[in-house]
Amino acid sequence: MSDYLLKSICFDGQVRVYTIDATETVREAQKRHDTWSASSAALGRTMIGALLLGATLKGKEKITVKVEGNGPAGHIIVDSNSKGEVKGYIANPKVSLPPNAAGKIDVRGAVGTEGSLTVTKDLGMKDTFSGQVPLISGELGEDFTYYMANSEQTPSAFGLSVLVDTDDSIKTAGGFMIQVMPGATDETITKLEQSIASIPMVSHLMETGEKPEEILERLVGEGNAKILEKTPITFNCDCSKDRFSRAIIALGSKEIDDMITEDQGAEASCHFCGNHYHFTVEDLEALKVSSNS
Ligand code: ZN
Repeated sequence: MSDYLLKSICFDGQVRVYTIDATETVREAQKRHDTWSASSAALGRTMIGALLLGATLKGKEKITVKVEGNGPAGHIIVDSNSKGEVKGYIANPKVSLPPNAAGKIDVRGAVGTEGSLTVTKDLGMKDTFSGQVPLISGELGEDFTYYMANSEQTPSAFGLSVLVDTDDSIKTAGGFMIQVMPGATDETITKLEQSIASIPMVSHLMETGEKPEEILERLVGEGNAKILEKTPITFNCDCSKDRFSRAIIALGSKEIDDMITEDQGAEASCHFCGNHYHFTVEDLEALKVSSNS
């Protein structure tokens, strides 16, 4: 069973609704970073939010979401794009906390309540858009909602949820994004507010086998949605030995010399996916030549 995101337009174009199953993708991130429950939920929710925002992009456009809170998880950085690819980093993967008052994973406790959420969109041709809002919740769904209202002037609602098993593995992960278009009627908005207030956590619905199609129907009611597109979602990091080589070259020949004489080689690992790259003395000699040219 693989992940996907469903794009739909509802109530005759008044509302845009995206629903997503990101279970395998968040599971992959959890394994690669060996995250503990609160870190898994914080990173997973940020990944789901970035995927939902990324789905509004076109072509080669990309998005980076940065959450910088004052909690023990530290900063979280997630990259996504219009093709449904995502990669993520969390400064402290080993945060697990007692459940919050609602008996859920304490994401706010991990992320913190002071800080910022920054979204940067790379629209190609050196054209970038960046928006930043202060964290208002730390639970992240509300923070993404606040970002949309303030930075993009779009009334919206985000539901982001990750269900973690007792052994720290990911049971389910998913969510939704609702964007209200100009011209939406009060009747439609009231209907949506009621369904958002009453819908159970998406991750719990998915645990019982519900798919993005069924979650969409819960949100807007039967017959009100027109599905436009189904996009596959994958964890994908674009790092390579070549990319790390360029970073080593940029350090300069003196630094490379130190790696050769003191360390007899170099190890590099990617913050986003955990892949390791080994550079032998011969590799480094070649890079040193490039750094001098
Ligand atoms: Zn990587």
